[in-house]
Amino acid sequence: MTAASDLIATLPTDLWLGGKQTPASSGTRFAVLNPATGAELTTVADASAQDGIAALDLAASAQSSWAATPSRERGEILRRAFELLHERADDFALLMTLEMGKSLQESRGEVNYGGEFLRWFSEEAVRIGGRFTQAPAGNGRILVTKEPVGPVLAITPWNFPLAMGTRKIGPALAAGCTVIVKPAEDTPLTMLLLGQVFADAGLPAGVLSVLPASDAASVTGPLMDDDRLRKLTFTGSTGVGKLLVRNAADRLLRTSMELGGNAPFIVFDDADIDAAVDGAMLAKMRNGGEACTAANRLYVANAVRGEFTEKLTARIAALKVGAGDEAGTEIGPLINGKQRTAVTALVDDAVAKGARVRTGGSAPAGPGFFFTPTVLDNVPADADLLTNEIFGPVAAVVGFDTEDEAVAAANDTRYGLVAYFYTRDLARTMRVSAALETGMVGVNRGAISDAAAPFGGVKESGFGREGGSEGIEEYLETKYIAL
Ligand code: ADP
Repeated sequence: MTAASDLIATLPTDLWLGGKQTPASSGTRFAVLNPATGAELTTVADASAQDGIAALDLAASAQSSWAATPSRERGEILRRAFELLHERADDFALLMTLEMGKSLQESRGEVNYGGEFLRWFSEEAVRIGGRFTQAPAGNGRILVTKEPVGPVLAITPWNFPLAMGTRKIGPALAAGCTVIVKPAEDTPLTMLLLGQVFADAGLPAGVLSVLPASDAASVTGPLMDDDRLRKLTFTGSTGVGKLLVRNAADRLLRTSMELGGNAPFIVFDDADIDAAVDGAMLAKMRNGGEACTAANRLYVANAVRGEFTEKLTARIAALKVGAGDEAGTEIGPLINGKQRTAVTALVDDAVAKGARVRTGGSAPAGPGFFFTPTVLDNVPADADLLTNEIFGPVAAVVGFDTEDEAVAAANDTRYGLVAYFYTRDLARTMRVSAALETGMVGVNRGAISDAAAPFGGVKESGFGREGGSEGIEEYLETKYIAL
Protein backbone atom coordinates (compact mmCIF):
# COMPACT_ATOMS: atom_id res chain seq x y z
CA MET A 1 0.00 0.00 0.00
CA THR A 2 1.16 3.53 -0.70
CA ALA A 3 1.25 6.22 1.97
CA ALA A 4 -1.80 7.72 0.27
CA SER A 5 -3.92 4.57 0.29
CA ASP A 6 -2.84 3.80 3.86
CA LEU A 7 -4.01 7.23 4.95
CA ILE A 8 -7.29 7.06 3.03
CA ALA A 9 -8.08 3.68 4.59
CA THR A 10 -7.87 5.10 8.12
CA LEU A 11 -9.76 8.36 7.63
CA PRO A 12 -13.08 9.29 9.19
CA THR A 13 -15.53 9.43 6.27
CA ASP A 14 -18.87 9.47 8.10
CA LEU A 15 -20.50 12.63 9.45
CA TRP A 16 -18.78 14.03 12.54
CA LEU A 17 -21.69 14.27 14.99
CA GLY A 18 -21.79 14.03 18.76
CA GLY A 19 -18.00 13.69 18.98
CA LYS A 20 -17.87 10.61 16.79
CA GLN A 21 -18.35 9.24 13.30
CA THR A 22 -22.01 8.79 12.42
CA PRO A 23 -23.48 7.48 9.16
CA ALA A 24 -25.80 9.83 7.25
CA SER A 25 -29.44 9.29 8.22
CA SER A 26 -30.28 8.67 4.56
CA GLY A 27 -27.44 6.15 4.25
CA THR A 28 -26.21 7.90 1.09
CA ARG A 29 -22.59 8.81 0.33
CA PHE A 30 -20.83 10.83 -2.33
CA ALA A 31 -17.44 10.54 -4.00
CA VAL A 32 -14.36 12.65 -3.32
CA LEU A 33 -12.00 12.85 -6.31
CA ASN A 34 -8.28 13.34 -6.65
CA PRO A 35 -8.03 16.32 -9.01
CA ALA A 36 -4.59 15.19 -10.22
CA THR A 37 -6.10 12.04 -11.75
CA GLY A 38 -9.86 12.52 -11.74
CA ALA A 39 -10.08 9.16 -9.91
CA GLU A 40 -12.17 8.55 -6.80
CA LEU A 41 -10.23 8.75 -3.52
CA THR A 42 -13.06 7.55 -1.30
CA THR A 43 -16.67 8.36 -0.47
CA VAL A 44 -18.09 10.34 2.45
CA ALA A 45 -21.46 10.32 4.17
CA ASP A 46 -23.89 12.75 2.55
CA ALA A 47 -25.69 14.88 5.16
CA SER A 48 -29.36 15.75 4.74
CA ALA A 49 -31.57 18.34 6.41
CA GLN A 50 -32.31 15.80 9.14
CA ASP A 51 -28.60 15.43 9.95
CA GLY A 52 -28.23 19.20 10.01
CA ILE A 53 -31.02 19.51 12.57
CA ALA A 54 -29.46 16.67 14.61
CA ALA A 55 -26.20 18.66 14.68
CA LEU A 56 -28.08 21.79 15.75
CA ASP A 57 -29.87 19.83 18.51
CA LEU A 58 -26.42 18.87 19.81
CA ALA A 59 -24.97 22.37 19.35
CA ALA A 60 -27.91 24.03 21.09
CA SER A 61 -27.86 21.66 24.05
CA ALA A 62 -24.06 21.97 24.46
CA GLN A 63 -24.10 25.78 24.04
CA SER A 64 -24.66 26.87 27.65
CA SER A 65 -22.18 24.43 29.20
CA TRP A 66 -19.54 25.30 26.59
CA ALA A 67 -20.10 29.02 27.18
CA ALA A 68 -19.77 28.39 30.93
CA THR A 69 -16.55 26.40 30.52
CA PRO A 70 -13.73 28.58 31.88
CA SER A 71 -12.03 30.45 29.05
CA ARG A 72 -8.69 29.05 30.20
CA GLU A 73 -10.05 25.54 29.63
CA ARG A 74 -11.46 26.45 26.21
CA GLY A 75 -8.07 27.91 25.34
CA GLU A 76 -6.27 24.79 26.50
CA ILE A 77 -8.43 22.54 24.33
CA LEU A 78 -7.63 24.77 21.34
CA ARG A 79 -3.96 24.64 22.24
CA ARG A 80 -4.08 20.85 22.47
CA ALA A 81 -5.81 20.68 19.08
CA PHE A 82 -3.01 22.86 17.67
CA GLU A 83 -0.43 20.42 19.04
CA LEU A 84 -2.27 17.33 17.78
CA LEU A 85 -2.64 18.93 14.36
CA HIS A 86 1.13 19.32 14.24
CA GLU A 87 1.67 15.75 15.44
CA ARG A 88 -0.42 14.67 12.46
CA ALA A 89 0.99 17.31 10.11
CA ASP A 90 2.16 14.77 7.53
CA ASP A 91 -1.30 13.18 7.35
CA PHE A 92 -3.05 16.54 7.04
CA ALA A 93 -0.61 17.71 4.36
CA LEU A 94 -0.95 14.56 2.28
CA LEU A 95 -4.72 14.59 2.67
CA MET A 96 -5.04 18.17 1.45
CA THR A 97 -2.80 17.39 -1.49
CA LEU A 98 -4.90 14.35 -2.36
CA GLU A 99 -8.32 15.99 -2.19
CA MET A 100 -7.47 19.54 -3.25
CA GLY A 101 -4.44 19.08 -5.52
CA LYS A 102 -1.92 21.60 -4.16
CA SER A 103 1.74 20.56 -3.81
CA LEU A 104 2.83 18.86 -0.60
CA GLN A 105 5.01 21.85 0.17
CA GLU A 106 1.98 24.14 -0.02
CA SER A 107 -0.10 21.72 2.03
CA ARG A 108 2.55 21.75 4.74
CA GLY A 109 2.40 25.53 4.60
CA GLU A 110 -1.33 25.34 5.11
CA VAL A 111 -0.95 23.06 8.16
CA ASN A 112 1.26 25.77 9.66
CA TYR A 113 -1.02 28.61 8.62
CA GLY A 114 -4.23 26.82 9.59
CA GLY A 115 -2.75 25.71 12.90
CA GLU A 116 -1.85 29.29 13.78
CA PHE A 117 -5.55 30.16 14.11
CA LEU A 118 -5.91 27.49 16.78
CA ARG A 119 -2.83 28.74 18.64
CA TRP A 120 -3.73 32.41 18.29
CA PHE A 121 -7.31 31.96 19.50
CA SER A 122 -6.19 29.62 22.28
CA GLU A 123 -4.38 32.74 23.51
CA GLU A 124 -7.26 35.11 22.79
CA ALA A 125 -9.85 33.04 24.70
CA VAL A 126 -8.64 34.43 28.03
CA ARG A 127 -8.59 38.02 26.78
CA ILE A 128 -12.31 38.50 26.15
CA GLY A 129 -12.90 41.75 27.99
CA GLY A 130 -15.55 44.35 28.60
CA ARG A 131 -15.58 47.82 30.14
CA PHE A 132 -16.88 49.86 32.99
CA THR A 133 -17.53 53.60 33.17
CA GLN A 134 -19.48 56.13 35.18
CA ALA A 135 -22.55 57.53 33.43
CA PRO A 136 -21.68 61.16 32.48
CA ALA A 137 -24.83 62.44 34.26
CA GLY A 138 -23.58 60.90 37.49
CA ASN A 139 -26.73 58.84 37.88
CA GLY A 140 -25.33 55.36 37.38
CA ARG A 141 -22.64 53.07 36.12
CA ILE A 142 -22.20 51.49 32.71
CA LEU A 143 -20.99 47.90 32.62
CA VAL A 144 -20.33 46.32 29.21
CA THR A 145 -19.83 42.57 28.94
CA LYS A 146 -19.21 40.18 26.05
CA GLU A 147 -21.12 36.95 25.60
CA PRO A 148 -20.83 34.20 22.97
CA VAL A 149 -23.30 34.78 20.16
CA GLY A 150 -24.48 31.14 20.27
CA PRO A 151 -24.47 28.21 17.85
CA VAL A 152 -22.58 28.99 14.64
CA LEU A 153 -22.87 27.58 11.13
CA ALA A 154 -19.56 27.78 9.23
CA ILE A 155 -19.64 27.19 5.47
CA THR A 156 -16.14 26.77 4.03
CA PRO A 157 -14.59 26.57 0.55
CA TRP A 158 -12.27 23.99 -1.02
CA ASN A 159 -9.19 26.10 -1.73
CA PHE A 160 -7.79 25.97 1.84
CA PRO A 161 -9.57 22.91 3.24
CA LEU A 162 -7.99 23.28 6.69
CA ALA A 163 -7.28 26.97 7.24
CA MET A 164 -10.69 28.26 6.12
CA GLY A 165 -12.14 26.01 8.82
CA THR A 166 -9.70 26.77 11.62
CA ARG A 167 -10.03 30.49 11.23
CA LYS A 168 -13.74 30.18 11.98
CA ILE A 169 -13.64 27.29 14.46
CA GLY A 170 -10.73 28.81 16.45
CA PRO A 171 -12.40 32.11 17.36
CA ALA A 172 -15.87 30.58 17.69
CA LEU A 173 -14.72 27.98 20.23
CA ALA A 174 -12.55 30.55 22.01
CA ALA A 175 -15.58 32.83 22.35
CA GLY A 176 -17.68 29.99 23.78
CA CYS A 177 -19.80 29.18 20.72
CA THR A 178 -20.70 25.72 19.47
CA VAL A 179 -20.04 25.15 15.76
CA ILE A 180 -21.44 23.20 12.82
CA VAL A 181 -19.11 23.13 9.80
CA LYS A 182 -20.35 22.45 6.29
CA PRO A 183 -17.10 21.91 4.35
CA ALA A 184 -16.92 22.20 0.56
CA GLU A 185 -18.10 19.09 -1.26
CA ASP A 186 -14.80 18.81 -3.17
CA THR A 187 -12.68 18.67 0.03
CA PRO A 188 -14.63 17.31 3.03
CA LEU A 189 -11.95 14.89 4.29
CA THR A 190 -9.60 17.41 5.91
CA MET A 191 -12.37 18.88 8.08
CA LEU A 192 -13.59 15.42 9.12
CA LEU A 193 -10.06 14.59 10.27
CA LEU A 194 -9.98 17.88 12.17
CA GLY A 195 -13.18 16.79 13.95
CA GLN A 196 -11.27 13.75 15.18
CA VAL A 197 -8.36 15.97 16.32
CA PHE A 198 -10.73 18.13 18.37
CA ALA A 199 -12.30 15.07 19.99
CA ASP A 200 -8.80 13.79 20.84
CA ALA A 201 -8.00 17.23 22.27
CA GLY A 202 -10.88 16.87 24.74
CA LEU A 203 -13.57 18.99 23.09
CA PRO A 204 -16.90 17.91 24.59
CA ALA A 205 -19.17 15.92 22.25
CA GLY A 206 -21.67 18.05 20.35
CA VAL A 207 -19.65 21.30 20.50
CA LEU A 208 -18.31 20.72 16.97
CA SER A 209 -20.01 18.88 14.13
CA VAL A 210 -18.81 18.44 10.54
CA LEU A 211 -21.38 17.76 7.85
CA PRO A 212 -20.23 17.05 4.30
CA ALA A 213 -23.12 17.39 1.86
CA SER A 214 -23.47 17.02 -1.90
CA ASP A 215 -26.34 19.53 -1.82
CA ALA A 216 -25.16 22.31 0.51
CA ALA A 217 -28.38 24.33 0.58
CA SER A 218 -30.53 21.34 1.55
CA VAL A 219 -28.59 21.19 4.84
CA THR A 220 -27.79 24.84 5.47
CA GLY A 221 -31.25 26.21 4.51
CA PRO A 222 -33.18 24.51 7.34
CA LEU A 223 -30.39 25.41 9.79
CA MET A 224 -30.60 29.07 8.83
CA ASP A 225 -34.36 28.97 9.29
CA ASP A 226 -34.03 27.57 12.82
CA ASP A 227 -34.21 30.10 15.69
CA ARG A 228 -31.52 28.28 17.62
CA LEU A 229 -28.83 29.08 15.04
CA ARG A 230 -27.34 32.51 15.91
CA LYS A 231 -24.56 33.10 13.45
CA LEU A 232 -23.51 32.25 9.91
CA THR A 233 -19.90 32.61 8.84
CA PHE A 234 -19.19 31.99 5.17
CA THR A 235 -16.14 31.93 2.94
CA GLY A 236 -16.83 31.41 -0.74
CA SER A 237 -18.02 33.11 -3.89
CA THR A 238 -19.70 36.52 -3.88
CA GLY A 239 -22.75 35.06 -5.66
CA VAL A 240 -23.42 32.46 -2.98
CA GLY A 241 -22.58 35.00 -0.25
CA LYS A 242 -25.27 37.37 -1.53
CA LEU A 243 -27.80 34.56 -1.62
CA LEU A 244 -26.97 33.59 1.97
CA VAL A 245 -27.21 37.20 3.19
CA ARG A 246 -30.64 37.46 1.55
CA ASN A 247 -31.74 34.24 3.24
CA ALA A 248 -30.26 35.37 6.57
CA ALA A 249 -32.36 38.54 6.42
CA ASP A 250 -35.55 36.66 7.26
CA ARG A 251 -34.34 36.02 10.80
CA LEU A 252 -31.76 38.86 10.91
CA LEU A 253 -29.19 36.12 11.45
CA ARG A 254 -25.76 37.61 12.17
CA THR A 255 -23.38 36.95 9.28
CA SER A 256 -19.71 37.29 8.38
CA MET A 257 -18.84 37.11 4.70
CA GLU A 258 -15.40 36.44 3.23
CA LEU A 259 -16.15 36.59 -0.47
CA GLY A 260 -14.35 36.91 -3.78
CA GLY A 261 -11.45 39.17 -4.61
CA ASN A 262 -9.96 40.78 -7.70
CA ALA A 263 -6.64 41.84 -6.26
CA PRO A 264 -4.56 44.40 -8.12
CA PHE A 265 -0.77 44.04 -7.92
CA ILE A 266 0.89 47.33 -8.85
CA VAL A 267 4.56 47.66 -9.75
CA PHE A 268 5.61 51.31 -9.76
CA ASP A 269 8.59 52.50 -11.78
CA ASP A 270 10.67 53.00 -8.61
CA ALA A 271 10.13 49.41 -7.40
CA ASP A 272 12.86 46.86 -6.79
CA ILE A 273 11.96 44.76 -9.83
CA ASP A 274 13.48 41.50 -8.61
CA ALA A 275 11.63 41.82 -5.32
CA ALA A 276 8.43 42.62 -7.24
CA VAL A 277 8.85 39.48 -9.35
CA ASP A 278 9.34 37.39 -6.18
CA GLY A 279 6.23 39.01 -4.69
CA ALA A 280 4.21 38.44 -7.87
CA MET A 281 5.16 34.75 -7.86
CA LEU A 282 3.78 34.46 -4.33
CA ALA A 283 0.74 36.65 -4.83
CA LYS A 284 -0.17 35.00 -8.12
CA MET A 285 1.03 31.41 -7.91
CA ARG A 286 0.52 30.56 -4.25
CA ASN A 287 -2.10 27.79 -4.10
CA GLY A 288 -1.98 27.60 -7.90
CA GLY A 289 -3.74 30.96 -8.08
CA GLU A 290 -6.79 29.43 -6.36
CA ALA A 291 -7.02 32.02 -3.60
CA CYS A 292 -9.32 35.00 -3.06
CA THR A 293 -6.14 36.94 -2.26
CA ALA A 294 -4.50 35.97 -5.58
CA ALA A 295 -3.14 38.83 -7.67
CA ASN A 296 -5.73 38.94 -10.44
CA ARG A 297 -4.46 42.01 -12.31
CA LEU A 298 -0.80 42.98 -12.56
CA TYR A 299 -0.54 46.71 -13.29
CA VAL A 300 3.06 47.44 -14.23
CA ALA A 301 4.55 50.88 -14.98
CA ASN A 302 5.33 50.99 -18.69
CA ALA A 303 8.89 52.14 -17.90
CA VAL A 304 9.64 48.77 -16.23
CA ARG A 305 7.03 46.53 -17.84
CA GLY A 306 9.42 44.91 -20.32
CA GLU A 307 11.95 43.91 -17.65
CA PHE A 308 9.30 42.81 -15.12
CA THR A 309 7.30 40.75 -17.62
CA GLU A 310 10.38 39.07 -19.02
CA LYS A 311 11.62 38.03 -15.57
CA LEU A 312 8.16 36.94 -14.45
CA THR A 313 7.65 34.92 -17.63
CA ALA A 314 10.95 33.08 -17.12
CA ARG A 315 9.96 32.16 -13.56
CA ILE A 316 6.43 31.08 -14.45
CA ALA A 317 7.52 29.07 -17.50
CA ALA A 318 9.97 27.17 -15.25
CA LEU A 319 7.34 26.09 -12.71
CA LYS A 320 7.08 22.33 -12.39
CA VAL A 321 3.49 21.21 -12.91
CA GLY A 322 2.36 17.82 -11.65
CA ALA A 323 0.45 15.83 -9.09
CA GLY A 324 0.87 17.50 -5.71
CA ASP A 325 2.43 14.42 -4.13
CA GLU A 326 5.10 14.02 -6.86
CA ALA A 327 8.57 15.17 -5.81
CA GLY A 328 9.38 18.69 -6.93
CA THR A 329 5.85 19.69 -7.96
CA GLU A 330 5.24 23.41 -7.63
CA ILE A 331 1.85 23.74 -9.31
CA GLY A 332 -0.81 21.05 -8.94
CA PRO A 333 -4.07 20.67 -10.84
CA LEU A 334 -7.08 22.94 -10.54
CA ILE A 335 -9.83 21.66 -8.26
CA ASN A 336 -12.19 20.26 -10.91
CA GLY A 337 -13.21 20.28 -14.54
CA LYS A 338 -15.67 23.15 -14.07
CA GLN A 339 -12.92 25.38 -12.71
CA ARG A 340 -10.60 24.47 -15.57
CA THR A 341 -13.27 25.27 -18.13
CA ALA A 342 -13.79 28.67 -16.47
CA VAL A 343 -10.06 29.50 -16.47
CA THR A 344 -9.74 28.40 -20.11
CA ALA A 345 -12.66 30.61 -21.11
CA LEU A 346 -11.13 33.67 -19.38
CA VAL A 347 -7.77 33.15 -21.12
CA ASP A 348 -9.41 32.56 -24.52
CA ASP A 349 -11.49 35.72 -24.10
CA ALA A 350 -8.41 37.84 -23.25
CA VAL A 351 -6.46 36.44 -26.20
CA ALA A 352 -9.38 36.97 -28.59
CA LYS A 353 -9.49 40.61 -27.45
CA GLY A 354 -5.77 41.14 -28.13
CA ALA A 355 -3.75 39.90 -25.12
CA ARG A 356 -0.38 38.38 -25.98
CA VAL A 357 0.48 34.93 -24.58
CA ARG A 358 4.05 35.01 -23.19
CA THR A 359 3.92 31.45 -21.85
CA GLY A 360 1.28 28.75 -21.31
CA GLY A 361 -2.22 29.69 -22.42
CA SER A 362 -4.06 26.37 -22.36
CA ALA A 363 -4.74 23.12 -20.56
CA PRO A 364 -2.35 20.23 -21.27
CA ALA A 365 -3.68 16.94 -22.62
CA GLY A 366 -3.98 13.97 -20.27
CA PRO A 367 -5.75 13.08 -17.04
CA GLY A 368 -6.32 15.48 -14.14
CA PHE A 369 -7.54 19.07 -14.16
CA PHE A 370 -4.24 20.80 -14.97
CA PHE A 371 -3.76 24.22 -16.55
CA THR A 372 -0.35 25.33 -17.78
CA PRO A 373 0.98 28.35 -15.83
CA THR A 374 0.39 31.34 -18.06
CA VAL A 375 1.53 34.92 -18.55
CA LEU A 376 -0.55 37.28 -20.66
CA ASP A 377 0.80 40.70 -21.58
CA ASN A 378 -0.96 43.70 -23.19
CA VAL A 379 -4.22 42.59 -21.62
CA PRO A 380 -6.93 44.95 -22.94
CA ALA A 381 -9.20 46.80 -20.53
CA ASP A 382 -12.29 44.94 -21.72
CA ALA A 383 -10.88 41.44 -21.04
CA ASP A 384 -13.22 39.51 -18.75
CA LEU A 385 -10.35 38.36 -16.50
CA LEU A 386 -9.81 41.93 -15.31
CA THR A 387 -13.29 41.97 -13.80
CA ASN A 388 -13.71 38.29 -12.79
CA GLU A 389 -11.64 36.23 -10.40
CA ILE A 390 -9.38 33.95 -12.46
CA PHE A 391 -8.75 31.36 -9.70
CA GLY A 392 -5.96 29.73 -11.66
CA PRO A 393 -2.24 30.08 -12.51
CA VAL A 394 -2.71 32.91 -15.00
CA ALA A 395 -0.86 36.24 -14.65
CA ALA A 396 -2.45 39.11 -16.58
CA VAL A 397 -0.16 42.10 -17.15
CA VAL A 398 -1.50 45.57 -17.96
CA GLY A 399 0.70 48.66 -18.47
CA PHE A 400 0.16 52.12 -16.94
CA ASP A 401 1.90 55.50 -16.98
CA THR A 402 0.91 57.49 -13.89
CA GLU A 403 0.23 56.71 -10.23
CA ASP A 404 -3.29 58.15 -10.50
CA GLU A 405 -4.01 55.92 -13.48
CA ALA A 406 -2.81 52.82 -11.59
CA VAL A 407 -4.84 53.58 -8.47
CA ALA A 408 -7.97 54.35 -10.51
CA ALA A 409 -7.61 51.05 -12.39
CA ALA A 410 -6.97 49.14 -9.15
CA ASN A 411 -10.15 50.54 -7.59
CA ASP A 412 -12.25 50.01 -10.72
CA THR A 413 -13.81 46.77 -9.47
CA ARG A 414 -16.76 45.71 -7.36
CA TYR A 415 -14.38 43.74 -5.15
CA GLY A 416 -12.20 45.11 -2.34
CA LEU A 417 -10.34 42.36 -0.54
CA VAL A 418 -6.64 43.03 -0.94
CA ALA A 419 -4.27 45.10 -3.07
CA TYR A 420 -0.51 44.78 -3.41
CA PHE A 421 2.00 47.34 -4.59
CA TYR A 422 5.76 47.70 -4.92
CA THR A 423 7.56 51.01 -4.49
CA ARG A 424 10.61 52.36 -2.66
CA ASP A 425 9.02 55.75 -2.01
CA LEU A 426 7.63 56.25 1.51
CA ALA A 427 5.33 59.15 0.60
CA ARG A 428 3.87 57.08 -2.23
CA THR A 429 3.46 54.13 0.14
CA MET A 430 1.28 56.18 2.48
CA ARG A 431 -0.66 57.92 -0.32
CA VAL A 432 -1.45 54.74 -2.27
CA SER A 433 -2.24 52.65 0.85
CA ALA A 434 -4.85 55.26 1.79
CA ALA A 435 -6.28 55.50 -1.73
CA LEU A 436 -6.81 51.78 -2.31
CA GLU A 437 -10.38 50.66 -1.61
CA THR A 438 -9.59 47.30 0.00
CA GLY A 439 -9.68 45.73 3.44
CA MET A 440 -6.00 44.77 3.20
CA VAL A 441 -2.90 46.17 1.52
CA GLY A 442 0.43 44.44 0.94
CA VAL A 443 3.35 46.86 0.54
CA ASN A 444 6.43 45.25 -1.00
CA ARG A 445 4.90 41.95 0.11
CA GLY A 446 3.34 39.20 -1.98
CA ALA A 447 1.75 37.35 0.94
CA ILE A 448 -0.10 39.02 3.77
CA SER A 449 -2.15 36.39 5.63
CA ASP A 450 -1.35 36.14 9.32
CA ALA A 451 -3.48 34.70 12.14
CA ALA A 452 -2.59 37.78 14.21
CA ALA A 453 -3.93 40.21 11.58
CA PRO A 454 -7.55 41.06 10.66
CA PHE A 455 -8.33 39.41 7.33
CA GLY A 456 -11.32 40.67 5.39
CA GLY A 457 -12.68 42.84 2.63
CA VAL A 458 -14.83 45.82 1.72
CA LYS A 459 -17.29 46.35 -1.16
CA GLU A 460 -18.50 43.04 -2.62
CA SER A 461 -15.64 41.13 -1.00
CA GLY A 462 -17.81 41.03 2.09
CA PHE A 463 -17.72 42.13 5.71
CA GLY A 464 -16.36 40.92 9.01
CA ARG A 465 -12.77 40.08 9.91
CA GLU A 466 -10.99 36.82 10.67
CA GLY A 467 -7.83 36.66 12.76
CA GLY A 468 -6.28 39.33 14.95
CA SER A 469 -8.02 40.65 18.02
CA GLU A 470 -10.91 41.57 15.70
CA GLY A 471 -11.59 37.93 14.74
CA ILE A 472 -13.16 36.89 18.02
CA GLU A 473 -15.58 39.85 18.00
CA GLU A 474 -17.49 38.17 15.16
CA TYR A 475 -18.55 35.52 17.70
CA LEU A 476 -19.36 37.82 20.63
CA GLU A 477 -22.42 39.87 21.53
CA THR A 478 -22.11 43.06 23.54
CA LYS A 479 -24.34 43.41 26.60
CA TYR A 480 -24.84 46.72 28.44
CA ILE A 481 -25.78 46.46 32.11
CA ALA A 482 -26.93 49.72 33.74
CA LEU A 483 -26.05 49.80 37.43
P1 ADP B 1 -16.73 28.06 -5.29
O1 ADP B 1 -17.40 28.68 -6.47
O2 ADP B 1 -15.38 28.55 -5.03
O3 ADP B 1 -16.85 26.56 -5.21
P2 ADP B 1 -18.95 28.45 -3.55
O4 ADP B 1 -19.34 29.78 -3.04
O5 ADP B 1 -19.82 27.80 -4.56
O6 ADP B 1 -17.48 28.62 -4.05
O7 ADP B 1 -18.76 27.41 -2.35
C1 ADP B 1 -18.28 27.74 -1.10
C2 ADP B 1 -19.05 26.93 -0.07
O8 ADP B 1 -20.42 27.31 -0.14
C3 ADP B 1 -19.01 25.43 -0.27
O9 ADP B 1 -18.98 24.79 0.99
C4 ADP B 1 -20.33 25.17 -0.96
O10 ADP B 1 -20.83 23.86 -0.74
C5 ADP B 1 -21.23 26.16 -0.27
N1 ADP B 1 -22.43 26.53 -1.03
C6 ADP B 1 -22.57 26.68 -2.36
N2 ADP B 1 -23.83 27.04 -2.67
C7 ADP B 1 -24.51 27.12 -1.49
C8 ADP B 1 -25.86 27.46 -1.14
N3 ADP B 1 -26.77 27.77 -2.05
N4 ADP B 1 -26.18 27.44 0.17
C9 ADP B 1 -25.29 27.12 1.11
N5 ADP B 1 -24.00 26.81 0.84
C10 ADP B 1 -23.60 26.81 -0.44
